[in-house]
Amino acid sequence: MQKVIIANWKMNPSTLKEAERLFNNTIKAVSGVKKIGIVICPPFVYLQSLKSLLSAKSHQPKASLGGQNLFWEDTGAYTGEISGEMLYSVGAKYVIVGHSERRAKGENNLEVNKKIKTAVKSGLTPIVCIGENLRDENHEYLNFIKKQIEECLDKIPKDFLQKIIIAYEPIWAIGKGALPATAEEFREMKIFIKKVLSDKFKTQTMGNVRIIYGGSVDEKNVQDFIENGQADGFLVGRASLNPKKFGEIIKICEALNN
Ligand code: PEP
Repeated sequence: MQKVIIANWKMNPSTLKEAERLFNNTIKAVSGVKKIGIVICPPFVYLQSLKSLLSAKSHQPKASLGGQNLFWEDTGAYTGEISGEMLYSVGAKYVIVGHSERRAKGENNLEVNKKIKTAVKSGLTPIVCIGENLRDENHEYLNFIKKQIEECLDKIPKDFLQKIIIAYEPIWAIGKGALPATAEEFREMKIFIKKVLSDKFKTQTMGNVRIIYGGSVDEKNVQDFIENGQADGFLVGRASLNPKKFGEIIKICEALNN
Protein backbone atom coordinates (compact mmCIF):
# COMPACT_ATOMS: atom_id res chain seq x y z
CA MET A 1 0.00 0.00 0.00
CA GLN A 2 1.38 3.42 -0.93
CA LYS A 3 2.22 5.52 2.09
CA VAL A 4 0.67 8.97 2.19
CA ILE A 5 2.12 12.03 3.85
CA ILE A 6 -0.19 14.95 4.39
CA ALA A 7 0.86 18.52 5.17
CA ASN A 8 -1.66 20.43 7.27
CA TRP A 9 -0.62 24.05 6.92
CA LYS A 10 -3.49 25.15 9.21
CA MET A 11 -3.92 28.96 9.10
CA ASN A 12 -0.47 29.57 7.55
CA PRO A 13 1.21 31.35 5.86
CA SER A 14 -0.12 34.93 5.94
CA THR A 15 -0.06 35.83 2.25
CA LEU A 16 -0.55 34.19 -1.14
CA LYS A 17 3.00 35.10 -2.08
CA GLU A 18 4.38 33.26 0.93
CA ALA A 19 2.09 30.29 0.23
CA GLU A 20 3.42 30.04 -3.31
CA ARG A 21 6.98 30.22 -2.05
CA LEU A 22 6.35 27.56 0.59
CA PHE A 23 4.68 25.34 -1.98
CA ASN A 24 7.47 25.70 -4.55
CA ASN A 25 10.14 25.05 -1.91
CA THR A 26 8.25 22.02 -0.65
CA ILE A 27 7.98 20.55 -4.12
CA LYS A 28 11.68 21.21 -4.68
CA ALA A 29 12.53 19.51 -1.38
CA VAL A 30 10.77 16.30 -2.41
CA SER A 31 12.16 16.09 -5.92
CA GLY A 32 12.92 12.56 -6.98
CA VAL A 33 10.35 11.03 -4.64
CA LYS A 34 8.28 8.45 -6.51
CA LYS A 35 6.76 5.99 -4.08
CA ILE A 36 5.07 8.24 -1.53
CA GLY A 37 1.73 10.00 -1.94
CA ILE A 38 2.16 13.67 -1.01
CA VAL A 39 -0.83 15.83 -0.11
CA ILE A 40 -0.67 19.51 0.77
CA CYS A 41 -3.61 21.06 2.60
CA PRO A 42 -3.26 24.86 2.52
CA PRO A 43 -5.92 27.37 3.62
CA PHE A 44 -8.87 27.32 1.15
CA VAL A 45 -8.00 30.68 -0.41
CA TYR A 46 -4.65 29.44 -1.74
CA LEU A 47 -5.92 26.24 -3.35
CA GLN A 48 -6.58 27.54 -6.82
CA SER A 49 -3.25 29.35 -7.18
CA LEU A 50 -1.33 26.33 -5.92
CA LYS A 51 -3.27 24.13 -8.32
CA SER A 52 -2.13 26.40 -11.17
CA LEU A 53 1.48 26.14 -9.99
CA LEU A 54 1.13 22.38 -9.91
CA SER A 55 -0.27 22.25 -13.44
CA ALA A 56 2.17 24.79 -14.86
CA LYS A 57 5.24 22.74 -14.08
CA SER A 58 5.46 19.04 -14.66
CA HIS A 59 6.44 18.50 -11.06
CA GLN A 60 7.99 15.20 -10.07
CA PRO A 61 6.62 13.87 -7.79
CA LYS A 62 3.01 14.83 -8.37
CA ALA A 63 1.70 16.25 -5.14
CA SER A 64 -2.03 16.51 -4.56
CA LEU A 65 -3.96 19.24 -2.82
CA GLY A 66 -6.50 18.99 -0.05
CA GLY A 67 -8.85 21.19 1.95
CA GLN A 68 -8.76 21.48 5.73
CA ASN A 69 -12.54 21.25 6.16
CA LEU A 70 -15.79 21.23 4.17
CA PHE A 71 -19.52 21.64 4.71
CA TRP A 72 -22.03 18.86 4.08
CA GLU A 73 -24.59 20.82 2.01
CA ASP A 74 -24.05 21.41 -1.72
CA THR A 75 -25.15 25.05 -2.03
CA GLY A 76 -27.35 27.52 -0.16
CA ALA A 77 -27.56 30.02 2.64
CA TYR A 78 -24.55 28.85 4.66
CA THR A 79 -22.38 31.92 5.05
CA GLY A 80 -18.69 31.14 5.22
CA GLU A 81 -19.01 27.47 4.36
CA ILE A 82 -17.36 25.59 1.48
CA SER A 83 -18.86 22.52 -0.21
CA GLY A 84 -17.12 19.37 -1.37
CA GLU A 85 -17.89 20.16 -4.98
CA MET A 86 -16.35 23.63 -4.60
CA LEU A 87 -13.18 22.12 -3.20
CA TYR A 88 -13.01 19.56 -5.97
CA SER A 89 -13.60 22.20 -8.63
CA VAL A 90 -10.50 24.18 -7.56
CA GLY A 91 -8.25 21.15 -7.57
CA ALA A 92 -8.54 19.49 -4.17
CA LYS A 93 -8.50 15.70 -4.13
CA TYR A 94 -8.44 15.25 -0.36
CA VAL A 95 -10.06 16.92 2.63
CA ILE A 96 -9.31 16.80 6.36
CA VAL A 97 -12.42 16.21 8.48
CA GLY A 98 -12.87 16.20 12.24
CA HIS A 99 -9.52 17.73 13.09
CA SER A 100 -9.22 18.18 16.86
CA GLU A 101 -8.85 21.95 16.42
CA ARG A 102 -12.31 21.99 14.78
CA ARG A 103 -13.75 19.58 17.31
CA ALA A 104 -12.51 21.99 20.00
CA LYS A 105 -14.82 24.58 18.38
CA GLY A 106 -17.80 22.26 18.72
CA GLU A 107 -17.67 19.94 15.70
CA ASN A 108 -19.15 16.59 16.70
CA ASN A 109 -19.13 13.03 15.35
CA LEU A 110 -22.51 13.47 13.65
CA GLU A 111 -21.20 16.44 11.67
CA VAL A 112 -17.99 14.60 10.83
CA ASN A 113 -20.15 11.73 9.56
CA LYS A 114 -22.07 14.06 7.22
CA LYS A 115 -18.81 15.59 6.02
CA ILE A 116 -17.31 12.18 5.22
CA LYS A 117 -20.36 11.21 3.13
CA THR A 118 -20.28 14.53 1.26
CA ALA A 119 -16.54 14.30 0.66
CA VAL A 120 -16.73 10.85 -0.93
CA LYS A 121 -19.78 11.88 -2.97
CA SER A 122 -17.78 14.88 -4.24
CA GLY A 123 -14.82 12.74 -5.33
CA LEU A 124 -12.61 13.73 -2.39
CA THR A 125 -10.70 11.37 -0.12
CA PRO A 126 -11.60 12.27 3.47
CA ILE A 127 -8.78 12.23 6.01
CA VAL A 128 -10.78 11.43 9.14
CA CYS A 129 -9.10 12.59 12.34
CA ILE A 130 -9.74 10.75 15.57
CA GLY A 131 -7.90 10.88 18.87
CA GLU A 132 -8.37 11.09 22.61
CA ASN A 133 -7.68 14.06 24.83
CA LEU A 134 -5.71 12.08 27.35
CA ARG A 135 -4.95 8.50 28.34
CA ASP A 136 -6.35 7.15 31.58
CA GLU A 137 -5.19 4.10 33.51
CA ASN A 138 -8.54 2.33 33.07
CA HIS A 139 -8.22 2.55 29.29
CA GLU A 140 -11.47 4.49 28.96
CA TYR A 141 -9.83 6.26 26.05
CA LEU A 142 -10.28 3.10 24.00
CA ASN A 143 -14.07 3.41 24.38
CA PHE A 144 -13.78 7.05 23.35
CA ILE A 145 -11.92 6.09 20.16
CA LYS A 146 -14.41 3.27 19.46
CA LYS A 147 -17.32 5.70 19.80
CA GLN A 148 -15.61 8.22 17.52
CA ILE A 149 -15.12 5.57 14.82
CA GLU A 150 -18.63 4.13 15.14
CA GLU A 151 -20.37 7.50 15.05
CA CYS A 152 -18.15 9.11 12.41
CA LEU A 153 -18.58 6.11 10.11
CA ASP A 154 -22.24 5.47 10.88
CA LYS A 155 -24.17 4.20 7.83
CA ILE A 156 -21.15 4.61 5.60
CA PRO A 157 -21.21 1.94 2.86
CA LYS A 158 -18.51 -0.67 3.25
CA ASP A 159 -16.99 0.18 -0.12
CA PHE A 160 -16.40 3.79 1.04
CA LEU A 161 -13.81 2.43 3.44
CA GLN A 162 -11.19 2.07 0.72
CA LYS A 163 -11.66 5.78 -0.02
CA ILE A 164 -11.09 6.95 3.54
CA ILE A 165 -7.87 7.63 5.42
CA ILE A 166 -8.02 7.37 9.21
CA ALA A 167 -5.61 9.73 10.94
CA TYR A 168 -5.01 8.79 14.57
CA GLU A 169 -3.97 12.04 16.22
CA PRO A 170 -3.95 11.90 20.01
CA ILE A 171 -4.68 15.46 21.09
CA TRP A 172 -2.03 15.32 23.80
CA ALA A 173 0.60 14.76 21.09
CA ILE A 174 -0.32 17.71 18.87
CA GLY A 175 1.29 21.12 18.79
CA LYS A 176 4.13 23.08 20.31
CA GLY A 177 5.50 21.64 23.53
CA ALA A 178 3.73 18.30 23.10
CA LEU A 179 5.50 14.96 22.95
CA PRO A 180 4.61 12.50 20.19
CA ALA A 181 3.03 9.13 20.96
CA THR A 182 5.49 6.25 20.89
CA ALA A 183 5.63 3.96 17.88
CA GLU A 184 4.42 1.16 20.14
CA GLU A 185 1.41 3.21 21.29
CA PHE A 186 0.54 3.86 17.67
CA ARG A 187 0.96 0.22 16.64
CA GLU A 188 -1.42 -0.92 19.39
CA MET A 189 -3.90 1.77 18.44
CA LYS A 190 -3.72 0.77 14.79
CA ILE A 191 -4.60 -2.83 15.73
CA PHE A 192 -7.46 -1.54 17.91
CA ILE A 193 -8.83 0.70 15.14
CA LYS A 194 -8.74 -2.20 12.66
CA LYS A 195 -10.60 -4.40 15.14
CA VAL A 196 -13.31 -1.75 15.65
CA LEU A 197 -13.62 -1.35 11.88
CA SER A 198 -13.83 -5.07 11.20
CA ASP A 199 -16.47 -5.52 13.94
CA LYS A 200 -18.46 -2.59 12.61
CA PHE A 201 -18.27 -3.54 8.94
CA LYS A 202 -18.33 -7.28 9.56
CA THR A 203 -15.38 -7.94 7.34
CA GLN A 204 -11.89 -9.24 7.93
CA THR A 205 -10.40 -7.31 5.01
CA MET A 206 -9.29 -4.15 6.77
CA GLY A 207 -5.84 -4.42 5.23
CA ASN A 208 -6.58 -1.76 2.62
CA VAL A 209 -7.70 0.97 4.98
CA ARG A 210 -4.88 3.42 5.55
CA ILE A 211 -4.28 4.31 9.19
CA ILE A 212 -1.82 7.14 9.57
CA TYR A 213 -0.30 8.88 12.56
CA GLY A 214 -0.31 12.58 13.44
CA GLY A 215 1.08 14.52 16.40
CA SER A 216 4.54 16.13 16.56
CA VAL A 217 5.85 14.13 13.60
CA ASP A 218 9.32 15.20 12.53
CA GLU A 219 12.36 13.91 10.65
CA LYS A 220 13.69 12.32 13.86
CA ASN A 221 10.74 10.08 14.76
CA VAL A 222 9.32 9.13 11.39
CA GLN A 223 11.52 6.08 10.87
CA ASP A 224 10.46 4.59 14.22
CA PHE A 225 6.77 5.11 13.40
CA ILE A 226 7.22 3.24 10.13
CA GLU A 227 9.45 0.43 11.32
CA ASN A 228 7.96 -0.16 14.77
CA GLY A 229 4.55 1.49 14.44
CA GLN A 230 3.66 0.22 10.97
CA ALA A 231 2.24 3.63 10.11
CA ASP A 232 0.67 3.87 6.65
CA GLY A 233 1.63 7.52 6.52
CA PHE A 234 1.54 10.76 8.49
CA LEU A 235 -0.44 13.93 9.02
CA VAL A 236 2.16 16.61 9.65
CA GLY A 237 1.45 20.01 11.19
CA ARG A 238 4.35 22.26 12.22
CA ALA A 239 7.06 20.38 10.35
CA SER A 240 5.15 20.80 7.07
CA LEU A 241 5.78 24.55 7.22
CA ASN A 242 9.50 23.88 6.93
CA PRO A 243 10.24 22.50 3.44
CA LYS A 244 13.60 21.08 4.54
CA LYS A 245 12.08 19.11 7.44
CA PHE A 246 9.04 18.04 5.42
CA GLY A 247 11.28 16.95 2.54
CA GLU A 248 13.41 14.91 4.94
CA ILE A 249 10.33 13.21 6.41
CA ILE A 250 9.20 12.21 2.94
CA LYS A 251 12.63 11.08 1.80
CA ILE A 252 13.04 8.88 4.89
CA CYS A 253 9.67 7.27 4.15
CA GLU A 254 10.63 6.79 0.51
CA ALA A 255 13.89 5.08 1.49
CA LEU A 256 12.05 2.73 3.87
CA ASN A 257 9.30 1.92 1.40
CA ASN A 258 9.45 -1.58 0.01
C1 PEP B 1 -1.98 18.42 13.55
O1 PEP B 1 -2.49 19.36 14.18
O2 PEP B 1 -2.64 17.78 12.70
C2 PEP B 1 -0.59 18.07 13.83
C3 PEP B 1 -0.22 16.85 13.60
O3 PEP B 1 0.20 19.06 14.32
P1 PEP B 1 1.76 18.94 14.77
O4 PEP B 1 2.46 18.07 13.77
O5 PEP B 1 2.23 20.33 14.73
O6 PEP B 1 1.75 18.34 16.14
